[in-house]
Amino acid sequence: MSKVTEIFGSMVFNDAVMKERLPKETYKALHKTIENGKSLDPNIANIVANAMKDWAIEKGATHYTHWFEPMTGITAEKHDSFISAEKNGSIIMEFSGKELVRGEPDASSFPSGGLRATFEARGYTAWDPTSYAFVKDGVLCIPTAFCSYGGEALDKKTPLLRSMEAISKQAVRILRLFGNDTVKTVKTTVGPEQEYFLIDREVYEQREDLIYTGRTLFGAKSPKGQELDDHYFGVIKDRVKNFMTELNDELWRLGILAKTEHNEVAPAQHELAPIFTTTNMAVDNNYLTMEIMQKVAKRHGMVCLLHEKPFAGINGSGKHNNWSISTDAGVNLLDPGETPYDNAQFLVFLTAVIKAVDDYQDLLRISVASAGNDHRLGANEAPPAVVSIFLGDELDAVVKAVVAGKTYTGGKAEKMEIGVHVLPKFPRDNTDRNRTSPFAFTGNKFEFRMLGSTASVADPNIVLNTAVAESLRQFADQLESAPDFGKALNALIRKTLKAHQRIIFNGNGYDDAWIAEAEKRGLLNLKSTPDALPYYLKEKNVELFTSHGVFTRAEMESRYEIMIENYCKVIGIEANTMLQMAKRDILPAVSAYSAELVDTALSKKALSDKIDTTYEEECAAKISKLTARLYAKTAALEKAMAGKDKVTPGIKVAVYYKDKVFAAMNQLRMTADELETLTGSDYWPLPSYGKILFSVK
Ligand code: ADP
Ligand code: MG
Repeated sequence: MSKVTEIFGSMVFNDAVMKERLPKETYKALHKTIENGKSLDPNIANIVANAMKDWAIEKGATHYTHWFEPMTGITAEKHDSFISAEKNGSIIMEFSGKELVRGEPDASSFPSGGLRATFEARGYTAWDPTSYAFVKDGVLCIPTAFCSYGGEALDKKTPLLRSMEAISKQAVRILRLFGNDTVKTVKTTVGPEQEYFLIDREVYEQREDLIYTGRTLFGAKSPKGQELDDHYFGVIKDRVKNFMTELNDELWRLGILAKTEHNEVAPAQHELAPIFTTTNMAVDNNYLTMEIMQKVAKRHGMVCLLHEKPFAGINGSGKHNNWSISTDAGVNLLDPGETPYDNAQFLVFLTAVIKAVDDYQDLLRISVASAGNDHRLGANEAPPAVVSIFLGDELDAVVKAVVAGKTYTGGKAEKMEIGVHVLPKFPRDNTDRNRTSPFAFTGNKFEFRMLGSTASVADPNIVLNTAVAESLRQFADQLESAPDFGKALNALIRKTLKAHQRIIFNGNGYDDAWIAEAEKRGLLNLKSTPDALPYYLKEKNVELFTSHGVFTRAEMESRYEIMIENYCKVIGIEANTMLQMAKRDILPAVSAYSAELVDTALSKKALSDKIDTTYEEECAAKISKLTARLYAKTAALEKAMAGKDKVTPGIKVAVYYKDKVFAAMNQLRMTADELETLTGSDYWPLPSYGKILFSVK
């Protein structure tokens, strides 16, 4: 293997490559476009496209694709080759500026939530020059936004870029008030930690539930699960190590800063954390990471499960969204500073986040809501469904002192007056001191921990960026017109923290007492996706997104439809898979096994009535009883599925799926899992939990 420094970013058309390959004037013009967000001059586009093509061909590419992030939650690509036919029958390799800048995939089958009437099925993709193009599997991939002809966003990237612009605009206003005249833009940064499972391909192939739904819909507990915590940070097995080595190599070539890898709590569970980067790149990179994890696993005879809850009774997988804000000069605005002035600025941004999380708890919850993640939130393996903020003892004491206008004794300050006193240095929360908090301050960033492992990182960051932009907008409006900045700042921070203190909670989020306390504080507890979704279109939320130009009302309405549809489809597919497995695999197997027991009992008895056949008889009786129950539960699930068509379309269907279909699925599963513990292993048609979880040796 080559040196890491040599391979890193070798498949990316990054700034260094552009500088080297583009004429000086073109490079400058392109940069200007990137900085100002203007559209690209066609002549420049042609030169860039040509250079990109030559570079890509050297990297082995024969095709190009616009690479985009539609509402399916995964990325989309459509490959076109560079070839162009000449009159004499030969070909040349061509790629024009037009092809680089704009594409028109036939996108009629992507979810649009009613935004794009079928007669105008074609959306278009537009190059996002702020994300670098790259070569993957012989294809030049050009990151693009995906819109309808009316200009409405049909993807996750467009609103993400808009939200980054929104927070930049408002943060710059605040920084100007602090005398920063040089800052032009502010960027949010994200480092998403990714959890996943690795299992052997052979056992995977034997489970239709894993194949169709990504999770096991049946499966009795294995004698050994995660009880001993012996997997967490344990020695990494050779096969997994080889997988990780190849994964790192591929990610590094794509310029993805894969950094930390270790075993997680559950058997067969692992984690990968990259070094953080600008939010839109972090989102692209996380999509790529998930894709490449799956590809590399396949090459090693394994399957990478990204589902939020592949196994009942075993921890599921999440994703931690580490988030901060930094200036174009690279100053982290959530890093408490050294001087009173820096500290005051830090407190403004901290206060803005606290206010944003409190005001838009519902949107944050919705940004991580999915049928899969519903299994985790509030299940003592992930934060509760209640959104709250963990600040840590010291910062909490500072906030309390600010609110009370009192002396803070922990540090040097005698009286907490913002902008006058130096705050004590907050210790970085390097430990897993509080893994139970959904939103934790960790020294110089916040860690949003409610994301499921398959989630697009775009969604929560669209909400976070916009909600914080709104806090900052309100602050800037008040402070810009204040006659005495210092005084106004003190009053504003005090007032805001006081109003939003309820969202701060430093205790154990898994404790039932907290859920009761949260209710008293008036915090939302949106337990499931159907519970959460109706909040999406609340007027305050529509106002938030429309006023910052992140979504139009029509875009929000379409997203709401898509979220409902997605939830229903996921549960519907799971229910159908269960029915098929129950009817075609499990029922015949248990029936055959009980028949075998009965046959054995009969033949033993025929030989001599002195032979004890208690086991055969009792077991056959038990299994037969449960078999009849399983059959009845199968019928009940079928009935529940049939009933969905009578429900009024919209959120009611999602509620129906949760209350009726999902409930019937759980009933069916319980009976089947009990049967698994009684049925001879030769007869049971599915690999057991033990076999799957310990399949990678
Ligand atoms: P800890 O100290 O809690 O172990 P790390 O500092 O190693 O955490 O960071 C965990 C994740 O947070 C990594 O992906 C890291 O790149 C990311 N991270 C660190 N600083 C920032 C930041 N300023 N903005 C966004 N993510 C960050
Ligand atoms: Mg973490």
